[in-house]
Amino acid sequence: MSSDSYPQLNNRPVAKKVRDIYKQRIDQFINEGPYMPFNLPAVMDDARVSDEQHVRLEVYSVPDLARPPFKEAINGKYRPARKGEAFGPSWSTHWFRINLRVPQEDVWLDNNMLEFHWENHNEGCVYNTDGLPLQGLTGDDERPVWPVPLEWKDGEWHTFYIEASCNGMFGNGDRDQIQPPDPNRWFTLSNADLVAPNPDAHALYLDFGIIADAARELDQDSWESNVALKVCNDVMNAFDPDDKSTLKRCREITKSYLGDAIDGPEVYESGQRTFVYAIGHCHIDTAWLWPYAETRRKTARSWASQVALIRKYPEHRFACSQAQQYKWLKAEYPSLFAEIKKEVKNGKFNFIGGSWVENDTNMPAGEALVRQMLLGQRFFESNFGERSVTYWLPDTFGYSPQVPQVCRGAGMSRFLTQKLSWNNINLFPNSTFNWIALDGSQVLCHMPPANTYTSRVEFSEVSNSLKNHKNLADNQTGLLVFGIGDGGGGPTAPMLEKLRRYRGLSDNVGLLPRVKMGHTADEYFDELERTTNNGKDLVTWMGELYFELHRGTYTTQSDVKKGNRRSEILLHDVEFIASLASLTNRNYKYPKERITDLWEIVCLNQFHDVLPGSGIEMVYDDAKILYAEVAEKGAQLFKEAAAALGLSETSGSGSDPVAVNTLPWPREELIALSNVNSKIAVQSAADNKQYAVMKSTSNGLLKPVQGVRVNAASSVSVTQVADTVFVLENPKLKVTIKDGVISSLYDKSEEREVLPEGTGSNQFVIFDDKPLYFQAWDTEVYSLDKRCYLSGATVSIGETGPLRASVIVEQKISDKSWLKSTIALDGVISATEAITSSSFVDITTEVEWHENHKFLKVEFPAEVHSDVASYETQFGLIKRPTHFNTSWDLAKFEVCCHKWADLSEATYGVTIMNDSKYGFATHGNIQRLSLLRSPKAPDGHADMGHHIMKYAILPHSGPINSDIVRASYNYNYPLRTYYAAKNAATSIKDILSAVTVEGDTNIIVSNLKRGEDDVDVGLGDFPLKNEKSIILRIYDSIGGRTKATLSVTLPVLKACYTNLLEDEKDEINFTTARIDGKTCTKIPISVRPFEVSTVKIVLA
Ligand SMILES: [Zn+2]
Repeated sequence: MSSDSYPQLNNRPVAKKVRDIYKQRIDQFINEGPYMPFNLPAVMDDARVSDEQHVRLEVYSVPDLARPPFKEAINGKYRPARKGEAFGPSWSTHWFRINLRVPQEDVWLDNNMLEFHWENHNEGCVYNTDGLPLQGLTGDDERPVWPVPLEWKDGEWHTFYIEASCNGMFGNGDRDQIQPPDPNRWFTLSNADLVAPNPDAHALYLDFGIIADAARELDQDSWESNVALKVCNDVMNAFDPDDKSTLKRCREITKSYLGDAIDGPEVYESGQRTFVYAIGHCHIDTAWLWPYAETRRKTARSWASQVALIRKYPEHRFACSQAQQYKWLKAEYPSLFAEIKKEVKNGKFNFIGGSWVENDTNMPAGEALVRQMLLGQRFFESNFGERSVTYWLPDTFGYSPQVPQVCRGAGMSRFLTQKLSWNNINLFPNSTFNWIALDGSQVLCHMPPANTYTSRVEFSEVSNSLKNHKNLADNQTGLLVFGIGDGGGGPTAPMLEKLRRYRGLSDNVGLLPRVKMGHTADEYFDELERTTNNGKDLVTWMGELYFELHRGTYTTQSDVKKGNRRSEILLHDVEFIASLASLTNRNYKYPKERITDLWEIVCLNQFHDVLPGSGIEMVYDDAKILYAEVAEKGAQLFKEAAAALGLSETSGSGSDPVAVNTLPWPREELIALSNVNSKIAVQSAADNKQYAVMKSTSNGLLKPVQGVRVNAASSVSVTQVADTVFVLENPKLKVTIKDGVISSLYDKSEEREVLPEGTGSNQFVIFDDKPLYFQAWDTEVYSLDKRCYLSGATVSIGETGPLRASVIVEQKISDKSWLKSTIALDGVISATEAITSSSFVDITTEVEWHENHKFLKVEFPAEVHSDVASYETQFGLIKRPTHFNTSWDLAKFEVCCHKWADLSEATYGVTIMNDSKYGFATHGNIQRLSLLRSPKAPDGHADMGHHIMKYAILPHSGPINSDIVRASYNYNYPLRTYYAAKNAATSIKDILSAVTVEGDTNIIVSNLKRGEDDVDVGLGDFPLKNEKSIILRIYDSIGGRTKATLSVTLPVLKACYTNLLEDEKDEINFTTARIDGKTCTKIPISVRPFEVSTVKIVLA
C-alpha cells in the first residue's frame, strides 16, 4: 500500500552531502577563525562591562616575593589598577581588591547567571571578605570565570579579593615548561569583566562540541556518526547570529541527538549498564616546577573550586590524595578545611591514598614506606573518622615489589596508577589485575585505560576507557580520572557538563561507552570485587611494576638521595634510643611530637618529584634545608636520649669511650676517636684522632678493646711495587692498583681471583647522557653506546696500617671536574664476626662535578656468571636479569637498589655496598654503580659541585646471604661515640640490649619504636591507651620462612602481632625465665619469605 501523501512529481533536486566538506564545515561553528564573529562565539554574552562605574580594581603588590595570608594581605597598601597592566616578576604575589556594581538594565536583572571573567595568565584565587577561598581563577583559559552571587544584582557595590600568583599552573619554565624557570616573567591582566552570559548559547556550545566529536570520531561507517554530522549541519543552518531566539531551536536539534535529560544529573538515572565511571581528581604535585610554598596555595585554590562545583553539581565526586596537603590546608585555611570536612561527610569530597604524599616507591626504605601510611592514615582517621582503602599513585615512577604488602598492612586492598602507560619499550599488558608482592600479598590494581589521571573529558578518552582496556574478558568497566592536574586545578564546570552530554549520547544514540558520575573510586573498586569473584577471576602480576622510563631518577640530585638515606637512618636511631630511654628513665619523656615532625619532613621529601630529582632548583634548595633540619634536630634528640641513659658527649675522669650500636646484632669495628689512651689506640687517624677497635658481644653498646695486639697475621699493609702499581694486602684480600684502577682483587681464603682477566675495578666511566626529552628524569638506552673510561690517574699512598691502609687515586674528569678516590683495606680485627671491614675494599670517592649531560658511573667487573643479579629493596631483595634476552630484560638496563646489589653464582659472589646511592646496573659480569648525572632541566644546576660518596666491594663465598645483608646495615648505620662512666657502662649496655633476637640470621628487626598511642607518648589525636609498649618491625631479608625468638629483659605483660598501623592482631604466647639473675621473656616469632611483620610488646 502506497501513501497518498508521497508526491508524484519532483522537480526539487536534493544532493547527497559530500561528507568531507560538511565535516570540515562544522569546525567553523565554535572554533576561532575568520567566521567567528558570525558564529556561536559571537553570541555567548548578552552584556559585558568593565568600566569604572561597574568594575573597580585595586592592587597590593606584595614585596620580596612573600606570600602573606589573607588577614595580612587585606591590610596591604592598595592602589588603583587597570586592565592591560603587567604584574611580575616570577613568583611575586599581587592581591586585587575588586568592587563590582551590577548594571540595573533588564539584560542583567533578568539573567539567572552572572559571571566575573578574569584573565591574568597566572594562578589566582577568589576570596570573600571573610577570607574564605571561593574558587581558583586560573589563567590561559583554564578556569577563567567566577560565578557572581545573584544577590549582587541589588545595585550596590560589592567587594571580593583575588590573590594572583605570578606563575603559571606549570611554574615559570622559560619557553618550555620543563626548562629552568625564567626569574623575570610578567603577566598582563587582559580581562576583568562583569558578564551577563547567554545560557542557551553556552549550553549549545557544549552540545555542539560533543556532537561534532561524534561525527569525527565514531566509526565513520556508522549511522551514529553520519547522523551526528547531519545534526551539526542542521544546527548551523538554523542558527542566526542576529536572532538569539534561534538558539532555542538549535538546542532542540542537538537534544534530538543527545536526549532531553542532559541539563541535569537525572541523565545518569536511566538505569542502563555503565561502562565508564568518571571520578573527579586534581593531581597537585607537592613540589615540582614550583616550590612547596606555592603548593600550599594550589591546594586552597584547587579544592575551593571543587567545593563550589560539588554544591552546583550533585553528581560530582572528587577524589583527592596526600595527607600532607590536607594538613597544610587545615593549618592555613581553616574555614575552607571546615567546608571540605562537610563534603567529606556528605561522601562527595573523597580523601584517598592513605599515604602522607604521593611518594616515590623505589627509593624510600621499608620503614619510610610504612611511615607514609602511618602518618597518612592517622591524619585521615583523626580528621575524618575513617581510613583510606585505596593507595593512589597515578604519577609515581615505578612501583616496588613490596607495595602490595605495605598496602595490606596499612588497611588498603586497592591500588591505582597509570604511569606504566608511559613505558617506552614494552606495552604493559593489563588494566585490571591482582598485583602480588614479594611475600605473596595482593592488591586489586586498576590502571585507568584512558591512560591519564588528568583527563579533560575528551571524547576519545571516554571511548578509550573501554577500547584500551586490556582485560575486557574479566572486567568491562574503566575508571576515568578527570580534572586539570599536575599543577592542581581539578574538574571544571564544562567537564561536568560534557559528561552529562556523553551519557545522554550513549543512552540516546549509543556506540560511546556509557559513562556515569556519582560513584566514588572506592565504590568502583567495590563493584570490581563483586563482579570478579573477589578478584579470583582476574589475572595476576607478580613483583615489581618496573617503569620503563625515568631511569635517571635513581641518581639525579645526589644530595637529596643522601639526605634521604641519612635521615631515615638517623630517625631509626633516635626512635631506638628514645624508646629504651623512655622506658627506663622516669624523667625522660619520649619526644613523640618532635620525632613525628621529622618523619613528616622525610616523607614529604619522598614526594615523586622531589626525591627522584625531577623538580626545579628551588625545590632542592628547600629540600636541603629540610634535611639539614632533620640532621640537626635528630642529632639533638639522640643526644638527649643518650644523656638520659647516662651517656655524655664529653670525656670526664673515670669515663670510657663507648659507641652506641642501634642495630640488633653485635658489631666490631675500627673507629677514629679523640682523646684515647695508648692501651686502646691502634693507629693514628686524621684530625688528631686515634683508631681504636670497638667491640660488643651483644647489641647495644660497643666498648674499646684494650691492648689490641696487631701482628703481621692480622694487619694490613700497603706497598708500591712498581712505578704505578700499589698493593693493599690483609690476611683475606690482596688488592692490586695499577694506573689508578684495581687490576687484581685476590681472595686468599677462596684462592680465587675476583676480576676477569684484563679488566679493572673501581673503574670510572663517563657516559654521554642526552635523553630524548625529560633530562632530569631519563637516561636513555643509547647512552650505553657512547662512553669512555677515565684514565691518567695520579696515585699515592694514604694510610699505612697496621689496621687501615689506603691508596689515593686522583683523576681529572675535565678542565673543571676531578675526582679523588680513596681505596682502603682494613686489617683483621675480629676472629668471630663473619664479615668485618677486613672483608671488603672500602672506597670513598670525592668528586668536584661541573659537567653537561654526562653520567658518571663506576664499574666492578667480576669473574661471576649468573643470569640474575639481586638488589636490596624494601624488606627484602629483588632479582633482575643480567642479560638482554627479551625487550623486557633490556628495558631494565638501569635499576634501583638500596644498600647493596649482588652478583652471585651458587658458590661465590660479589656484593657492592653503598652509603647513599640508588642507581645500579648489572650487565653480564659487570656491576655498575651510578654516581652523578648532569641534566640541565628543570634544575639548571642539578648535581653541580662537591660530592663525597662511599661504596665497597665485598667478595664472598656462597650466594647472597644474611651476613651480607647485615654487613650492608653496618656499612650504613654509624656507630655514635659517647663517654660512659666506668661503673655505668654495664647498665647502659643492658638497657640498649633489652631486646635481642635469637634464631635464623635472615630475620631482621629493622625498627624499634614506642606505640603511637601509649599513655606517656600519644599526642591526643587518638584516645590514649593505658599502656606502655614497644613496636618492633621484623622481616625476612633473604626469602626464607623463618623462625626466631625475641629475648626481652624489660617486664613483659603481653605480646601480639599488629598490622603496620599498630592495630592488634593475634596474641603471642611467651615464656619468662630467670637468666643470669635477670628476668628474661622469650617471644617466639615466625615470618613467611619476605614478610614484614609488626610485633607489639606491652610492658608492665
Ligand atoms: Zn605528579
